[in-house]
Amino acid sequence: MKNIHKNGDYLMAELSKASSRIYGEAAFEVLGKAQELERQGKNIIHFEIGEPDMETPENIAKAGIKAIKDKKTHYTPSNGILELRLAVQDEVEKTRGYRPALEQVVITPGLKPGIFFSMLAIVNPGDEVIYQDPGYPTYGSVTSFLGAKGVLVPLLEENEFRMNPDDIKSRITDKTKLIIVNSPQNPTGSVITKAELEEIAELAEDHDIFIISDEIYSKMTYEIDHYTPTKRDEAKKRTVLLDGFSKYFAMTGWRLGFMVAPVLMAERLQDFLVSAVSCTADFTQWAGVEALTGDQSFISEMMKRFKQKRDRIVKGLNSIPGFSCLSPRGAFYAFPNIKDTGLTSKECADHLLHNAGVACLPGTAFGPYGEGYLRFSYANTLENIDLAIKRIKDSFK
Ligand code: PMP
Repeated sequence: MKNIHKNGDYLMAELSKASSRIYGEAAFEVLGKAQELERQGKNIIHFEIGEPDMETPENIAKAGIKAIKDKKTHYTPSNGILELRLAVQDEVEKTRGYRPALEQVVITPGLKPGIFFSMLAIVNPGDEVIYQDPGYPTYGSVTSFLGAKGVLVPLLEENEFRMNPDDIKSRITDKTKLIIVNSPQNPTGSVITKAELEEIAELAEDHDIFIISDEIYSKMTYEIDHYTPTKRDEAKKRTVLLDGFSKYFAMTGWRLGFMVAPVLMAERLQDFLVSAVSCTADFTQWAGVEALTGDQSFISEMMKRFKQKRDRIVKGLNSIPGFSCLSPRGAFYAFPNIKDTGLTSKECADHLLHNAGVACLPGTAFGPYGEGYLRFSYANTLENIDLAIKRIKDSFK
């Protein structure tokens, strides 16, 4: 019989074929394993989960609480409350240099539904979708769920893990429907240059291909400015801007993001939202209005701290025999090369978890080109970073 669970449960009928093609995320699996070890009394230092180690700023949390007290606890329009959509319009103008029409702006419960729904709106079975490898697993999972073919663009250390537009060009076929860009990038922390993004946007233009630009780390760069490939057509013809509040406002649990899409597509996206979630939580959206229009100093403070942590962990990782690590330009991930340890990514991550009490992710959790690397989410204290480096060194003695 098919569909037997390891605990003995079984189904009398088969689940859909498409559902067997969707897959999960290693970060949550490793977190589960690490917590199990903690239950057994082991001390674990956590670098596996991609979320800031800070709390949501007080002014934003207060705005959310006030909204609940003011009875902002009802359904809202499925594309979001007007006040937040207006704030997003201003935000995009300020940070991206173009002002989208209000009809282009759609509010979502986190950025992730934005990936899911915009891919549903664009991709047919049999289409080809180009994305980075190593890259955020959701792109591959949704591509596979939709019965499309994932075409991987390798991110190479010699190119500082930036996508090379020539590698995209050589992979475009008459089946290519979509290119997904993510900069600053998860898991490598790379930031693509303006010139490279312009080239990619031009390729999309020449071949009538959509671009989805996942900009969840847009305000999290060091030494280099963020740029968006949606600038070229102002998200009016073929590009979709996705951004959200999870990372730079430390709001992962609030579930709030936004999309800026061509009007015809935004209408479809709204229908997906109606069918799937009705709308994003009312009070969460009011917290979002405060996040975008209130005091912004939290972000620069957090980035100052992240820069210190980045410098500390990169220096530490480079001092471990067999490890070498580039200094990432954005997000809060370090992606060391561990090839000289002689271990695979998975073996090395398991070794660190069990013998050093350090939880991180194998690079292969983000695709085959992640082999030979680990991902450390360095949203942790400087003390824990130092301690982890010491424990890693000791574990190899
Ligand atoms: N895109 C990327 C590249 C991410 O790293 C993450 C979070 N790990 C998300 C999207 C998901 O964002 P959200 O929590 O707002 O859905």
